Amino acid sequence: MSPSHRQPSSRTGANAPAPGDPVERALEWLRREWRGGCAAGMAFSTARAQTTRLRSLAATHQAGAALDEVEARLDAYRRLDPAARRDELPQIANLLKALQPLLREIAPSLTDVGLLPEAIAPSRRRSQPAPALDPAPSPRAIRAARPEDPVTVLPRVGEAMARKLEKLGLRTVEDVLRFAPRYHIDYTRSLKVGEVLLHPVGAEVTLRGEIIDLQLVRGPGKPRVVAKLADETGWVRVVWFNQYLVNQLAVGDEIAVSGKLESTFGRLSFTGPEWEHLSGPRANNLSTGRLAPVYPATAGVQQKTLRALTRAALDMTHGSIREFLPDPIRAPADAPLPLLAQAYEMLHYPASEAEKELAERRLGFDELLLLQLGLVRRRQERQAQAGVALPADDTTLQAFRDALPFRLTGDQERSIAEVLTDMAAERPMARLLQGDVGSGKTAVAAAAMLVAHAAGFQSAMMAPTQILAEQHERNLHALYEALPGASQPRLALLTGNTRAAERKRTLAAVEAGEVDILIGTHALIEDRVQFARLALSVVDEQHRFGVRQRATLPDKATGRLPHQLAMTATPIPRTLNMVLNGDVDVSVIAERPPGRIPIETRRYVGREREAAYDLVREHVAAGRQAFVICPLVEASEQSEAKAAVDEAERLQTDVFPELRIAMLHGRMSGKEKDAVMSAFRDRQYDVLVSTSVIEVGIDIPNATVMLIEGADRFGLAQLHQFRGRVGRGGTRSWCLLLADEATPDGEERLQMMIETDDGFLLAQKDLELRGPGDFIGTRQSGLPEMSWIDGSFDTRLLDRARRIAEALLETDPELDAPDHRALAERLRQFWTRAAPDVPV
Ligand code: ADP
Ligand code: MG
Repeated sequence: MSPSHRQPSSRTGANAPAPGDPVERALEWLRREWRGGCAAGMAFSTARAQTTRLRSLAATHQAGAALDEVEARLDAYRRLDPAARRDELPQIANLLKALQPLLREIAPSLTDVGLLPEAIAPSRRRSQPAPALDPAPSPRAIRAARPEDPVTVLPRVGEAMARKLEKLGLRTVEDVLRFAPRYHIDYTRSLKVGEVLLHPVGAEVTLRGEIIDLQLVRGPGKPRVVAKLADETGWVRVVWFNQYLVNQLAVGDEIAVSGKLESTFGRLSFTGPEWEHLSGPRANNLSTGRLAPVYPATAGVQQKTLRALTRAALDMTHGSIREFLPDPIRAPADAPLPLLAQAYEMLHYPASEAEKELAERRLGFDELLLLQLGLVRRRQERQAQAGVALPADDTTLQAFRDALPFRLTGDQERSIAEVLTDMAAERPMARLLQGDVGSGKTAVAAAAMLVAHAAGFQSAMMAPTQILAEQHERNLHALYEALPGASQPRLALLTGNTRAAERKRTLAAVEAGEVDILIGTHALIEDRVQFARLALSVVDEQHRFGVRQRATLPDKATGRLPHQLAMTATPIPRTLNMVLNGDVDVSVIAERPPGRIPIETRRYVGREREAAYDLVREHVAAGRQAFVICPLVEASEQSEAKAAVDEAERLQTDVFPELRIAMLHGRMSGKEKDAVMSAFRDRQYDVLVSTSVIEVGIDIPNATVMLIEGADRFGLAQLHQFRGRVGRGGTRSWCLLLADEATPDGEERLQMMIETDDGFLLAQKDLELRGPGDFIGTRQSGLPEMSWIDGSFDTRLLDRARRIAEALLETDPELDAPDHRALAERLRQFWTRAAPDVPV
């Protein structure tokens, strides 16, 4: 497509940012943070999330480096005290402002390609000097072991202990080495009792003092040991529900305790804290005088035992841990990572916080690199296959634009251009189109399918449900309607509802090439539909299709792979995108079509519930419809279904006896669900009570109220999907969040929902609050299990992993150079743990 046919975009003028300018948005949140007294709270998190989104606009090295600086300073900002923050904030804002002219619209994938040569000689600055990488070997080495040996080679691990360790997922010595401490206690930096007063209840603190009183209390209640721990500034009460401690402690002992600060009748206290002797023969040098590891869930194994085990595992494997990263990758001069063996040591027994971070960096980098190697390889394999080149035809595209009832947004135009560029090449496209609910992804797919048609080929479009497939057929009809007759593609629909005779006719027509676009559910793959000349397959709501399943219907005439366009309304922060979708190219629609009426989002607590119900009644009285989402039930689909039935009954008898109520839950068959949805769409019901199964991209313009019960229990991304079900019809719509007292995280989610309806922002926040587990969700994503990549992973590390992976596979595709063999072996191990994937 020639550039002259692109719609002028309001955002290409680099010096004249439009009001929707992302830098301006980030600045606005920084201003709020300033007005809010530099609390580093939600406004700040939002600003931080916004800057992440600038990354895809930073096309040049200069812009990338400037953005690095902004991000690094934003991250450091949180750790400053409020006074220092006031100084820092305007400076960050100025840096951000200075970034504005450097940014422009460009595909993220193009940026990566431009940076490729850096993989071999990365030139980025480090923000912090590297700590020493050379801890002295431990003198306590006893016996040698290899990482792959069973835990029973470790001292004092018999069958019984091995079983306990198994519960913690520890089967081999390597498992023990990789068993990450939850945190470290810094016994060297303990507080005075008087200083503890300055900390809020709930804070994790470490305190040292002398035991001045020690009692074994046998009852009432559980037997417990109660101690008074004192220094010259006062004393605190410490309770352990472990009567045997009375033998290990004595009045006069100097100990340190570490745990959560509590308050009993107004006095500070600890219950069951970690503790250590600080002096005397019992002082344990695995903990005192350094950072002592505290491991997660211990399944009845004492922390002290775990420490002894990790220590032994480290000592015994000294010399047998094989380094699999070649030096040039692991230790470039400007950002060296520790050796694997060193990283394990630093993970458990770091000499400083910096060492601990370095260990986590190394282990996180390993996973990022192994992941990217797998994804890049997958992508290369796909690209090595032959596809059908479909050169875009400008006349067709312009006719499409002219026929549309609206004007395409800049993001839609850009996405279309990206898709068409891919389709014009002989390599099969693998592109993911991400756009928030209602951002207009269908129009992009429609343009692509029209171009395929103009080039003389067929397209297939798959949706996860029947009703969505029907919706697509209707929408495509509407979009193509105004085209000149000859250029209109012929559409056909194939779903579970299609009658046998018609199905036969449709299949024959598709095979004969008399249908140009076949729309359907995954019956399209299952039925092995035969196309005459298929060149493009579109998968809508791809995330609903389970394990990265994509249509793989080869073109019958040529045997070549069709281009694939997957669409998803699950907005994913860019960083995570590269983790999850590193094998495909990504286009993003961030802006919404103009003229949308924002959805009013409100929180209701306790008695206010009645007010929420009144609003539902009002809307129904005005001829509108409402959704009610049932609270999340964790146990099973069955109990969730029961909860939905109960809720529907309650609403029908107690709350809305006069309304027509329908119900939808996960125990219903696809057919039943579709029947209910269609009836609701056709206004046979006023209220649809549903479990979370409703979230898929259904379009019911007459529904104007979304009432969510127990809203605090849902994740942000999901709440946002629910909300996206309303506000589609040009009348003001409402999202009512019913939640009594929520956890702090729950409150934060609700507040976020009220403050913004930007799906990307919400997704970024979700990632921060919950970690990436739900996104990466082992089974769904079809990716290897990852334990070191968490919500806060360093995006620069990811970029580095990506560039190295690309450069490595470029020069040594099979990784069989002598220096790369260990890496190849590790790569194989890593990916065999992955869920099987449908080949793309
Ligand atoms: P989604 O990205 O959620 O699949 P759709 O493609 O269903 O969104 O589009 C949502 C609605 O917005 C549709 O009714 C569509 O006609 C409309 N729409 C799409 N693009 C535009 C635009 N550029 N201007 C105005 N309306 C648009
Ligand atoms: Mg859609």
